[in-house]
Amino acid sequence: MNATALPARTEIAIVGAGPTGLALAVTLASAGVDFVIVDRLLEGANTSRAAVVHARTLEVLDELDASKELIDRGIQITRFAVRDGSRRLLTVSFDRLPTPHPYTLMVPQYETEDVLLTRLRVLGGDVHRPYEVNSVIQDQDGVTLTMSTGETIRAGYVVGADGMHSAVREASGIGFTGSAYGESFVLADVEMDWAPGRREVSLTFGAAGLAVVAPLPGGHYRVVATVDDAPITPDLGCVQRLLDERTPGQANLTALAWSSRFRVHHRIADHYRSNRLLLAGDAAHVHSPAGGQGMNTGIQDGYALGRAFATGQLDGYEAQRRPVAQRVVAFTDRMTKMGTTRSPAVRAARNTALPLLGRLPAFRTKLATELAELNYR
Ligand SMILES: Cc1cc2nc3c(=O)[nH]c(=O)nc-3n(C[C@H](O)[C@H](O)[C@H](O)COP(=O)(O)OP(=O)(O)OC[C@H]3O[C@@H](n4cnc5c(N)ncnc54)[C@H](O)[C@@H]3O)c2cc1C
Repeated sequence: MNATALPARTEIAIVGAGPTGLALAVTLASAGVDFVIVDRLLEGANTSRAAVVHARTLEVLDELDASKELIDRGIQITRFAVRDGSRRLLTVSFDRLPTPHPYTLMVPQYETEDVLLTRLRVLGGDVHRPYEVNSVIQDQDGVTLTMSTGETIRAGYVVGADGMHSAVREASGIGFTGSAYGESFVLADVEMDWAPGRREVSLTFGAAGLAVVAPLPGGHYRVVATVDDAPITPDLGCVQRLLDERTPGQANLTALAWSSRFRVHHRIADHYRSNRLLLAGDAAHVHSPAGGQGMNTGIQDGYALGRAFATGQLDGYEAQRRPVAQRVVAFTDRMTKMGTTRSPAVRAARNTALPLLGRLPAFRTKLATELAELNYR
């Protein structure tokens, strides 16, 4: 059943109504630009996935009148701690950052998507579902999209906000350069007694892999851990064992609300534009979820692209946003390698250097600014 009939023509067709496509749609709707957004799913995914919303993303959501509702649904965390086992190496605070949102908001991805969709509807728009784009053909005057139903839509421009396996990117011929990492991630939302408490995000380094623990609304915690080969659906025992190994004596799990496996790729599209086809979000870049930056970067891409359309500055979009993805990929890559080194010498040097660096206010501010993505304004 189609929620709304598909128009024959539009100025901009957005393929994919994840956080990136929705942020773009809200930006265009706010600016009064004509667009259509389609998604192959009958309704939005209702899983937890990306649970961190950084300060820069909240600033973008301020512009879209969507931040207040989201903030009400999440919890605000002002501290980020780095440990090796139970030894604290570094604490970074967000509360002095020069932003109206000096904190990290913890909220499941379905809430972020719901807030953006609600805002889109308030502005008079909606997502056309379920429409799967099967073919994307551009010519000098426009682009023809053909759905799996056989229906077509003619657009001036098409944006691929259709995730990592983007059909729009495929059709554009733009390369997706990078590689798949050997390791995978266990993700789980759990209830537990967690010794460090609910006021900080905790990143624990270890030769066996990284472990991130962050509080979520509803008394839950999000656990993210790198492992060589994660089970498809990690169970409570698996998550408990991982935390026992990496954060000995800190965690006592009592329930598991959601879990998943995430295979890590580090890839960036060689270009964000091929004439009338543009890419944003996971269609343009994918990387480790360790810094919680995938969805954030996608929402910021969507906003930047929407503003570029609204102001007629489409040529600047790739130059503005592709270097951001390069920095995010390099940053998460460095963090993962530094955190999981098996060399005792490198580990000892890291554990000596980090507490020293952590005494330098300039270093703490730089790290907090990078994590909050505030240097991407
Ligand atoms: C299990 C899991 C856990 C994750 N955990 C984290 C995390 O902890 N931290 C983090 O930062 N990130 C995480 N991510 C990544 C994060 O979810 C993505 O970065 C984010 O969703 C990207 O948003 P997007 O809108 O660009 O793409 P997506 O969310 O992938 O949305 C793409 C949309 O396009 C639609 N679509 C695709 N192809 C077509 C087509 N041909 N026609 C029509 N529609 C189409 C899809 O149905 C989908 O709705 C996780 C992802 C997964 C899958």
